[in-house]
Amino acid sequence: GGGSFGSKKIKEVDPGELPYVLVPEEKECNRRLEEKDGASVASTACSSSVPQFRDSEWNDNVGYFIKKVVTVSTGELLPANPEILEGVDDLIQLSYLNEPSVLHNLYQRHSRDIIYSKAGPVLIAINPFKAVQLYGNDFVTAYRQKLLDSPHVYAIADAAYTEMMADERNQSIIISGESGAGKTETAKIAMQYLAALGGGSSGIECEVLQTSCILEAFGNAKTSRNDNSSRFGKLIEIHFSATGKIWGAKIQTYKLNLKTASEYNYLNQSACLAIHDVDDAEKFHVLMEAFKTIRISKEDQEHAFEMLAAVLWLGNISFKVVDTENHVEVVADEGKMRSCSGSRPTIFPGSSATLCAARLIGCNAQDLMVALSTKRIQAGKDNVAKKLTLQQAIDTRDALAKFVYASLFDWLVEKINRSLAMGKQHTGRSISILDIYGFESFKEYELDGIDWAKVEFKDNQECLNLFEKKPIGLISLLDEESNFPKATDMTFASKLKQHLNANPCFKGERGGAFSVRHYAGEVLYDTSGFLEKNRDPLHSDTLQLLASCSSRLPQLFASSKLNQLQKTANPSSQLGAFDSHKQSVGTKFKGQLFKLMQQLENSTPHFIRCIKPNSKQLPGAYERDLVLEQLRCCGVLEVVRISKSGYPTRMTHQEFTRRYGFLLSENNICLDPLSMSVAILQQFDVLPETYQVGYTKLYFRVGQIGALEDMRKQFL
Ligand code: ADP
Ligand code: MG
Repeated sequence: GGGSFGSKKIKEVDPGELPYVLVPEEKECNRRLEEKDGASVASTACSSSVPQFRDSEWNDNVGYFIKKVVTVSTGELLPANPEILEGVDDLIQLSYLNEPSVLHNLYQRHSRDIIYSKAGPVLIAINPFKAVQLYGNDFVTAYRQKLLDSPHVYAIADAAYTEMMADERNQSIIISGESGAGKTETAKIAMQYLAALGGGSSGIECEVLQTSCILEAFGNAKTSRNDNSSRFGKLIEIHFSATGKIWGAKIQTYKLNLKTASEYNYLNQSACLAIHDVDDAEKFHVLMEAFKTIRISKEDQEHAFEMLAAVLWLGNISFKVVDTENHVEVVADEGKMRSCSGSRPTIFPGSSATLCAARLIGCNAQDLMVALSTKRIQAGKDNVAKKLTLQQAIDTRDALAKFVYASLFDWLVEKINRSLAMGKQHTGRSISILDIYGFESFKEYELDGIDWAKVEFKDNQECLNLFEKKPIGLISLLDEESNFPKATDMTFASKLKQHLNANPCFKGERGGAFSVRHYAGEVLYDTSGFLEKNRDPLHSDTLQLLASCSSRLPQLFASSKLNQLQKTANPSSQLGAFDSHKQSVGTKFKGQLFKLMQQLENSTPHFIRCIKPNSKQLPGAYERDLVLEQLRCCGVLEVVRISKSGYPTRMTHQEFTRRYGFLLSENNICLDPLSMSVAILQQFDVLPETYQVGYTKLYFRVGQIGALEDMRKQFL
């Protein structure tokens, strides 16, 4: 029926047999509607005007109002899909593509333990938080032989493998999602499939699988969101021979979480040392086996564990304030001195922690104390040691621990790569699996001169400029300010406001705050601590100390860092006046990301979006708000829309002409790839509305390439 509800148009609808779904709103949710299981109401409805229930009755068994007729304003209604489309494999099949329908479809599948769905070309993986019977050799075979075609990581890995072999082009599988969504597990599942396909006699596929074990042992931590959270992003490149066998692999890591070491450093502060169901001894045994497989020598293993121990001891070093200006010395505790490596007790004025740490890294304990509590500065002609303040000393200590830990991790990755015997020629036969948070690139479309207006594409360039523009992007300003001795978080904030106010994505807020309009929504930032976090507090004194150590690893770590600093020293940089050889954390990260993007640019991407169905790591629970937020964040709906109404297939002009060029009459052959592409399209009367010509690529609507392929076959 219809009627009026306030001034709005209203409608009476029965949630049990709705031809409509309700528009989701983020604010107030009406739980009664939301929890009405099984009905077509698939939403986190309804804020502004709470629906009016008629004939509704509370049902104690199920714990929500059942029935019946709800009165809502028509603006909150969207068309629902017919029953026949309930729980479809690919969201693209939905007749009505709206958020509640997508949410509902995924919910239906999740409740039946169907964790994989497609959103056009993208695989959506909903974390089941329990073992699901979807993996193993039988499934691998079934997907390889195309006996199964339901959405699956195996199907994605298979497509990558098949395309790689057919086109001799590198492929990448890009796995994204928030923490705990299942990225790392998904990467392992993809690797398992590729290892099974590409398994030769070398045993290298086994080594590739074992690498995750080592990397996780050193690079993961329990957090509140994920018991086994990776504290690094990683890219695994698997290389194949001409016959499709794995012959090598390479790993790159992107340490995204820059607080890593301090989290490990104070293991006891986090109150999460034990994990339910995890047997540390068993895990350690598995790790040792993995070390063996990767051929890391006993000696190197010992070195690695010494460095771990040193990091923990460093964390136990404390300082006491010795004067009114907050200057410190290392706290002494001779009385409680215990042996840390089985040797006899030593009389030493510092702490046992200092002594143990020093012993493990192979330096004099006195030198370590000095390095942690003072800083050498140039005073006229003299080089004097100035006492550090408490905060400076703590930062110096943490920076050292962090550096040793990070270096250890890099060293392990290097060892693994060497063991995987990589670095020979490049074949165009590789599959890279990227397990990283928040990687997104829509730049390509915009740069290629396509009119995307029809596809409702959101423009992200302003926001990218806000961060990246030189010399007045957010990152540049942060670097500049970090290097300015007198700067504070407040001066940084006012600098941002002064320079960035013109950018529509930026808004200065009160005090030290500002907000940024990201692709997914507006986020409020507080500048406090920004400068400190961006500065690399590893002083040259500390590096010198490490370089002079008698143990091999600290020496190695220090010299590679010093090398790196020399390489990046750039006196002509705008920061020249201040400590120009120090590369800030922000800049370093950006550099890594750039390298990564370059590497992925030359491969055919396959996307997997991992979704966390609830925040409690529970099987069976589906929190609609949380899922919706993630779907919005990664633009699933946009992807489906693009796939449906857009141009999902792309080919460079070169690729296109290489494949279809022979169809042309002779006099067209000498043209450049772009003109040749256009000639091919015209000669075969491909309808103009089914493709777009970009500067470097051609874009086709769904199914168009199939028609061209048929044509090609006729001529072969
Ligand atoms: P992320 O890397 O995205 O932070 P993880 O891959 O570490 O998340 O997954 C978190 C946890 O979720 C895993 O430890 C595992 O318990 C569970 N999980 C993820 N994917 C699956 C899956 N396909 N099957 C069973 N459990 C899974
Ligand atoms: Mg992970």
